[in-house]
Amino acid sequence: MQIAVIGSNMVDLITYTNSLPKAGETLEAPDFAIGCGGKGANQAVAAAKLGGNVMMISKVGDDLFAPNTVANLQQQGVDTRYVTTAPGTSSGVAPIFVDDQSQNRILIIKGANQQLKPADIDDAAEALTSCKLMILQLEIPLETVYYAIDFARQHNIKVILNPAPAVADLDIQYACKCDFFMPNETELEILTGMPVSTDEEVQLAGQSLLKRGLKNLIITLGSRGSLWMTGDDLHHVAPTPVKAVDTSGAGDAFIGCFAYVLVKTGDIAEAMSQASAYAACSVTGRGTQRSYPDADSFQRFLN
Ligand code: ADP
Repeated sequence: MQIAVIGSNMVDLITYTNSLPKAGETLEAPDFAIGCGGKGANQAVAAAKLGGNVMMISKVGDDLFAPNTVANLQQQGVDTRYVTTAPGTSSGVAPIFVDDQSQNRILIIKGANQQLKPADIDDAAEALTSCKLMILQLEIPLETVYYAIDFARQHNIKVILNPAPAVADLDIQYACKCDFFMPNETELEILTGMPVSTDEEVQLAGQSLLKRGLKNLIITLGSRGSLWMTGDDLHHVAPTPVKAVDTSGAGDAFIGCFAYVLVKTGDIAEAMSQASAYAACSVTGRGTQRSYPDADSFQRFLN
C-alpha cells in the first residue's frame, strides 16, 4: 500500500427544490439524488481513480448507507479493510437542499466519523507502516488526527494535513509535524484570522503560518489557482482555464491527485501542476466523486 487516507465518509442526500418549506409546512420537491462524499473518501477516490494504491481508515454507521459507502469505495479501487462499523451509530450524512437559483444549503451530521479513534490507527498499524504517504482532514476527532500524525512521524510516513473544515483551535505544533499543510483560502483566513482577498494578503497570511514552523504550505485559491510556499520560496500555479459547472469537491480532487503524483514522482512542483489540471477537469462536471476523471479521461483532458 502506498497512500493511506484516514478520514471521513459522508452520504450526500441532495434534494432539488423550487422553494424551501417554512416551519410546519410540507412541500413537494421535484428531484432527489444520493451521492458518496466526505472529504476523506473524496480524496481517496481521486487518488485511486488515477491508479494509486490507496487504503482508507474510516468509520461507517450501523445503517443502510454503510454497505453502499463501502461498495462505492471498493468499486473505485480503494482498499476498505479498515473501513469499520460503529455500532448503534448513523453514518455521516449531509442533507443538501439545492434551490432553483442553484444555491446550496447543507447540513452535516458527522455520525460514525466521530467514532474514528486512535485505537483504529493501532488496529491498522501493520498495513499503515508499509505506506509512503498519509492524508488527513478534520472531519474526524482531532485526537485521532494528532495520534495519526505522531504515528506517521515514528514510522517515516510523509503526511498531508488538509485542515478542512477549518477549526480555529487546531494545534499548529501538529501542523508543523506534517510535510504538507493544504488549506483553501477560507481555511487559511479562519486559521490565521487574517484577510485573504488579494494575492498579497494570502501571502502575508501564509507567511504568518510559515513563521510558526510549517514546512510546505500549499493553498488552493479556487479559480485563482494554487500557491506553494516554504520559508524561503514561493511558487504560484495558474489555474487551468475551464468552464466551471460545479466546483464542489475541487479541493479534494486537487489533494487526491497531488498525493498520487507525489508518491509516483517525489516532485512537488509536478504534483501541483497535475493536481491543478485534475481539479480543473473535475469542476467541468457535476457532483464530487463522479466528476473526478480516471487516468484515461484525465489524459484525454490534458491532450
Ligand atoms: P475547495 O474545494 O477546498 O474550496 P478550491 O476552490 O480552492 O478548493 O479549488 C481547488 C483547486 O481546484 C484550485 O486550486 C484550482 O486548481 C482548481 N479550481 C477550482 N475552481 C476552478 C476553476 N473555476 N477553474 C479552474 N480551476 C479551478
